[in-house]
Amino acid sequence: MSMFQSRVALHWRILAGLLLGVVAGLLINSFWTSETWAAMGVNDAKVFLESGQANVAGDFAGGVNEYADFTAKAARFVRHANEFVGDLFMRGLKFIAVPIVLFSLAAGVASLNDTAKLGRIGGKTIGAYLITTAVAISIGLLAANIVKPGKYVPEETRNILAAEYKETADSKVDSANVEIEKSTWDIALDIFPANPFASMAEGKTLQVVVLGLLIGLALTLMPAKESEPLVQLFQGMTGIVIKVVEMILVFAPIAVFALIVTVVADLGMEVLRSLVVYCLTVIGGLAIMMFGVYPFVVRVLTPIKYGRFFKAISPAQLLAFSSASSGATMPVTMECVEKRLGVSEDVTSFVIPVGATINMDGTALYQGVAAVFIAQMYNIDLSLMQQLTIVLTATLASIGTAAVPGVGIVMLVIVLESVGIPVEGIAVILGVDRILDMCRTSCNVTGDCMVAAIVGSTERELRTPAEIAADLAHPLDEHPPERS
Ligand code: ASP
Repeated sequence: MSMFQSRVALHWRILAGLLLGVVAGLLINSFWTSETWAAMGVNDAKVFLESGQANVAGDFAGGVNEYADFTAKAARFVRHANEFVGDLFMRGLKFIAVPIVLFSLAAGVASLNDTAKLGRIGGKTIGAYLITTAVAISIGLLAANIVKPGKYVPEETRNILAAEYKETADSKVDSANVEIEKSTWDIALDIFPANPFASMAEGKTLQVVVLGLLIGLALTLMPAKESEPLVQLFQGMTGIVIKVVEMILVFAPIAVFALIVTVVADLGMEVLRSLVVYCLTVIGGLAIMMFGVYPFVVRVLTPIKYGRFFKAISPAQLLAFSSASSGATMPVTMECVEKRLGVSEDVTSFVIPVGATINMDGTALYQGVAAVFIAQMYNIDLSLMQQLTIVLTATLASIGTAAVPGVGIVMLVIVLESVGIPVEGIAVILGVDRILDMCRTSCNVTGDCMVAAIVGSTERELRTPAEIAADLAHPLDEHPPERS
C-alpha cells in the first residue's frame, strides 16, 4: 500500500475532517475574545472582594487577564494556521482547474469525432440546467411563502443588523451595479475568448471550454495521421492532471478540517440565532433539492441507485460545502463524476465545467427565499407577477454568478431591484451568508453531477458498477498495469 492509499473510504475521511473541524472551530470561537475570559475573571474577583480579600481579588483578576490574553492569542494563531492550510489546498485545486478543462475537453471532443453528438450533449446539458434552476427557485419561493421567515425577525433586530452590516452591504450593492451595467450582449460576447492565453491566465472557465471545444473540433477536421499524435498528447496531459487531482485529494480531509475551523471560528453565533427561521427555510429548500429532486430524477432517468449516487459524489459535495466555491471544487467534481459515478470523459469534461459556471440551483433557490424574506421584513406583499419576475431574474442572476464564495448575495441585489424590494435588506442577512453559501454551493455541485449522470446515461456513456470497480482498483499505484 503506497503512502497515498488508505483503508478508510475518502468520503468518510473527509466527513471526519469536517466534524472535527466544527468541534475545533467552536472551541476557537469561544476562546477567541479575551473579553469573555476577562469577564469571568472579574466575576470571580468580585466574590473575593465581597468576602473582604481585596489583595487576593486584585491578584486573581490580573492573573485571569494574562491568561485570557494568552488564550485569545493562541486561538488566533490556530485559526490563522488553519486558514493557511485551507488556502494552500485551494490553490492546488485552482492550479489544476484550467489544464483539466482544456486538455480533457480537447481530447474528448477529438476522440468523439462526432459533431452531431456534441450538439446533442450541449443541448441536453443547457436544457437540463435551465429546467432544474427554475424548479429550484420555485421551491425556494414556495418554502418562503409557506414558512414566512420574515415575520420572525423583530423590527429591533432588523435595525441592529442593518446598522452593523451597512458598510459591507453597500459594497455588495456597488459590485452588483457594476454587473447591472454589463449588457446581455457583453455577457454573451464574453463567452468567446479574444486571447486564449489571457482566458487561461485569468481562469475564465467558459472561455476555456470554448477553447477546448475549438481545439477538439479542429483536430477532428485534420487528417488522422497529423491529429493522432496531438490527441495522444492531450490524452496524456489529461492523465497527468487527473493524477495530480488524486494526489491533492489525499490531503482533502486535512484541508476540509482547516477550512471548516476557519469558518466556524469566525461565525457570529448571535446573528445565527436571530435569523434561525430564515436559515432553516433556505437549508430545508436546499435539502429538498439535494436529497429529493436530484436523486429522484437520477433514479428515474438512469440506472444509478440513491446510495451509489451520493457515495460517488460525496467528496465533491463535502469539499464544496467546506470551500463555498464550486469553481475550486470543479476538478474534484470531475474526478468523482468520471471515476466514481462512471460517466464517460467526453460527457464529464463538457457538462461539469459548463455546470460549474452557469448552473447554480442552490444559489437560485437561496435568492428566491432571500428575496421573499426581505420583502416580508419590510411588509411588502409580492404579487404573483413579481414572484414570476423573481423566477426569471434569479435564473439569469444565478447563471451570471461567479463560482466563488459570496457572489450569490451580490447577484441577489439584481433580483431585489427587479421587483422593487429595498436592497438595504441584504445587510440583515449578511451575517449568516457564509454558512448558507456553503450549503448552496454543495447543492450547486450536486446539480451538476445529476445532469452529468442523466446526459451520460441517455448518451449510453455510463459505466456499470463492476466496470468502475475494476478501474478504481489501482488508484495512485506507481505504474499500474495497463488497461486492455
Ligand atoms: N459560492 C457559490 C458557488 O461557488 C456561489 C454563490 O452562491 O455565492 O457555487
